[in-house]
Amino acid sequence: FTKNHKSVPVADKGWKEGEPVPYAALVSTFEKIEQTTKRLEILELLTQFLLVVAKRDTATDAKDSVLLKVVYLCINRLCPDYMGIELGIGETLLIKAIAESTGRATTKIKEDLRKEGDLGKVAMMSRNNQPTMFKPKPLTVPSVFKDLSDIAKATGNNSQTRKVGIIKKLLAACQGNEAKFIVRSLEGKLRIGLADKTLVVALAHAIVLKGIGGKNLPHDVLATKLEQGAEIVKSVYSELPNYDLVVPALLKNGVDNLREVCKLTPGVPLKPMLAKPTKAIGEVLDRFEGKLFTCEYKYDGERAQVHMLEDGTIAVFSRNSENMSAKYPDLVEQIPKCVKEGVKSFVIDAEAVAFDLETKKLLPFQDLSRRKRKDVRTEDITVRVHLFAFDLLYLNGESLLTKELKERREILTTNFKPVESEFDFAKSSDGSTSEEIQAFLEESVKDGCEGLMVKMLTTADSTYEPSRRSMNWLKLKKDYLAGIGDSLDLVVVGAYHGKGKRTAVYGAFLLACYDPDSENFQTICKIGTGFSEEVLSEFYGILQPLETEAGARGDIEVGGAKPDVWFEPKVVWEVLTADLSLSPVYTAAHGLVDQRGISLRFPRFLKIRDDKSADEATTAEQVAEFYQRQVTAGGKKGGGGDDD
Ligand code: ATP
Repeated sequence: FTKNHKSVPVADKGWKEGEPVPYAALVSTFEKIEQTTKRLEILELLTQFLLVVAKRDTATDAKDSVLLKVVYLCINRLCPDYMGIELGIGETLLIKAIAESTGRATTKIKEDLRKEGDLGKVAMMSRNNQPTMFKPKPLTVPSVFKDLSDIAKATGNNSQTRKVGIIKKLLAACQGNEAKFIVRSLEGKLRIGLADKTLVVALAHAIVLKGIGGKNLPHDVLATKLEQGAEIVKSVYSELPNYDLVVPALLKNGVDNLREVCKLTPGVPLKPMLAKPTKAIGEVLDRFEGKLFTCEYKYDGERAQVHMLEDGTIAVFSRNSENMSAKYPDLVEQIPKCVKEGVKSFVIDAEAVAFDLETKKLLPFQDLSRRKRKDVRTEDITVRVHLFAFDLLYLNGESLLTKELKERREILTTNFKPVESEFDFAKSSDGSTSEEIQAFLEESVKDGCEGLMVKMLTTADSTYEPSRRSMNWLKLKKDYLAGIGDSLDLVVVGAYHGKGKRTAVYGAFLLACYDPDSENFQTICKIGTGFSEEVLSEFYGILQPLETEAGARGDIEVGGAKPDVWFEPKVVWEVLTADLSLSPVYTAAHGLVDQRGISLRFPRFLKIRDDKSADEATTAEQVAEFYQRQVTAGGKKGGGGDDD
């Protein structure tokens, strides 16, 4: 790749200097990416394209930058996550728009969809079989971006009709394979196997190559520059996940001083640090023995990243960077009371927990999830929230991410103060023997927590690592120690009709994990026991509208599973299992430990995780890790065996 970086990509053909980037050029890159599964090849294809775009992008303002629009279209977003403008148009509406635009009957479209499993392909075929008198004016990246934004932003009366109107206009202008990607974008997923992290690296490489210009650098020098560039952009983006800010800065100054201009900023939520699961206290000690570490209560609530801006604005963000300020008006009001004098701006990492004001006891997560999500009025709130702060990431203009946890915690406790029933610091104990950890674990459960978080306290291993699932944070969940150490969050992709009394509802469900590299869902188990009639009918109500005409969609790796109906992969369930086994039927994590997939034995439903989206489900890699740890811990005995 480094050798041929100066070659002109095919996507450049027919694209004249000074003209807006044709959408066809982007689509031809998507098409090539779709045809390969090799990550390096995908990276090269994307880098080449971004380089050509970056070279021609002279915008001084984010809103005019075509590179920015290309970046968003590649990850199928329109703005940073926390701004909440999303694509994800339902299948029914899309079928209607395709039918009206191409003059075909919806029944025919549904029939094709059952055969193809991909509405994008069906739209393309429908469009290409349609006789057209005049060649439409070519779509451009800015025009497509604007139309998609208008569709995503349309709300209120008539919004469905307006959406269908724009989609029809877009489809009518599509040529070649453009309709395939327009429709997939509208559905919310490109399905080309382009992982977000590949885009970050490709963007970095393109900007480095742009900076080098036509200079001939020795191969190793160039390789180092590319690698360093990627590291810088990755780390900056994890602190400031906002391409509106990062892309213009890259275009203006390149990668070298990106860290100086793009930093953690209150108001822009960073991706939270995550923990690895553990099966036993012994495992914790193996990792931390001889080092300074701390155990904290693992509260059973919802993650809340609380920001205060210089102007006093308070914003609360969820685990997946959704702005939750409207869900938690009470929290927004509570926060200023816990701030000591001199604090002007901050970012706190915390858990918001449902709280019983009378008994002064913590309530489980379910109580919190019963709160309405939107437009909550303080006077209508029945479930109070108590905030437990466990980390401080930013204070008064300074990022604290690279400081040791011990120091971050000291700064937290000196600048904030507990407020009864509203705010406190996560309860912690720095004890280090197995007995002490066991005692603290028992205590945490007695107090209504899920268990403990064990964290490195000092040294470079105790810095805050945004977006990383780190070995420096371990979770020890009391209830799950007997199983594989943690629950799994799985996507419901299919269902089996009930029998006997249950024929009107689904009787069992097909679950899947997520593979972010291929963007596919991989089947992992069938779950069907232990549901009451009432629960089954509730699930039917939630899932039936998600039944899809597509059969198994193109992004579900089915294996040998044969459910009666398939769903759009949207609903996430937390599930417990006794152990995992290799399976010839299911596809989860196939190729990672074995050619066969991995499946769950005796899965048990715990709860609906409506704070997680499908692409935040347990990953194939995590499933493989669970399996491997089980094999190492118990040999073949009691798990890790074959399911054949
Ligand atoms: P994942 O590990 O995939 O994030 P999850 O969302 O199901 O899984 P858990 O497995 O429950 O989360 O563990 C991590 C979560 O625990 C954090 O995201 C946070 O919301 C919560 N938490 C509670 N107390 C603490 C604490 N003291 N330190 C860090 N996280 C805590």
